[in-house]
Amino acid sequence: MEYMAAGTSIPDVDMEFDKNIPRICGVCGDKATGFHFNAMTCEGCKGFFRRSMKRKAVFTCPFNADCRITKDNRRHCQSCRLKRCIDIGMMKEFILTDEEVQRKREMIMKRKEEEAQRESQRPKISEEQQQVINILLEAHKKTFDTTYSDFSQFRPPVRENTTRRITRSSSVQTQSYSSDSDPFNSSPEPSEYSFFSSSLFGDCSSDGSLGGPNDLKMLPHLADLVSYSIQKVIGFAKMIPGFRDLTAEDQIALLKSSVIEVIMLRSNQSFSLEDMSWTCGSEDFKYKVDDVTQAGHNLELLEPLVKFQVGLKKLNLHEEEHVLLMAICILSPDRPGVQDKALVEAIQDRLSSILQTYILCKHPPPGSRLLYPKMIQKLADLRSLNEEHSKQYRFITFKPEHSTMLTPLVLEVFGNEIS
Ligand SMILES: [Zn+2]
Ligand SMILES: [Zn+2]
Repeated sequence: MEYMAAGTSIPDVDMEFDKNIPRICGVCGDKATGFHFNAMTCEGCKGFFRRSMKRKAVFTCPFNADCRITKDNRRHCQSCRLKRCIDIGMMKEFILTDEEVQRKREMIMKRKEEEAQRESQRPKISEEQQQVINILLEAHKKTFDTTYSDFSQFRPPVRENTTRRITRSSSVQTQSYSSDSDPFNSSPEPSEYSFFSSSLFGDCSSDGSLGGPNDLKMLPHLADLVSYSIQKVIGFAKMIPGFRDLTAEDQIALLKSSVIEVIMLRSNQSFSLEDMSWTCGSEDFKYKVDDVTQAGHNLELLEPLVKFQVGLKKLNLHEEEHVLLMAICILSPDRPGVQDKALVEAIQDRLSSILQTYILCKHPPPGSRLLYPKMIQKLADLRSLNEEHSKQYRFITFKPEHSTMLTPLVLEVFGNEIS
């Protein structure tokens, strides 16, 4: 094999190696380092060609002008070596003048500087920010049990037509929550429910087919779910970096007003777009819109709630974004009764900035497009849902027989009209 026509038609000196071309110097057969002055050569022959051209050297062969150049003898005859260079296509036009070399160096330098500049301006998740994200992920993991195994401990769900009764595993009912009536004594534990107080508002139903003694059948079960979820949200909140720096009064004020919103947010994890239900394990704990209607739910809340769930689901949030959104929701300085608004705002600002940075760095397009404003809009939607919930909750608790179906924790957090 001869020296191939190494790169005779390849003008780009910076060209990458073609895997099919042997990396052998076309002049001497030594190991080549790439295309130099239009031919595949070793470093030695590259330098020899440049030097020879620069000083316009004229060589004479001491032999017969047909020396065979090899790696070992390439220094013996400069004349034949140079001739070989030209034969394989090396061109002096490819040699840069000193000025050109300088300009090229400067250009490379400039490009590197620009690159470094761009790199430094690109948003990056700092170690500290990542730490916050990790803590929130862990907090959520500890307070959201995706097996929903604790649901069987609630008072059983009772539905119209299909009266499914679950054997009570224990008397974990209203009374069992008494010990947890202080929301700050509850420890974070796995579990979650999704559908917050669906039947808390049975009497508000515009559906005339319901009413009578069958009314509010689902209330005990769902009240237990809500109560349980409140404990989980409290557990989550306590682990949010910065939350503990607030006074106990401010912690309570924040939780009281945000807990229903956070329950709506976290329930999105079990919400299914396929059948528009909150699927928490078995059939018994699959909460359909129909269930809620049968429980006499007021559509003024139900309709926008389902719409909210669909919209949120379609954002396809990463778990990181999901937990940050919940934390941001809780740390809202404009909640009623908050004293140290500046501190709450500072914590929320930090969380918001982490969320924005996360989206920029980790959420690929097109999903990332306007994702942050869309998420903030969801927080605004939650405010309306919260308001509607309060309205209907007040209405339902006017009836003492309904209030007694709730739990002390629910009554404490959402208020007790009869007391
Ligand atoms: Zn060579
Ligand atoms: Zn020679």
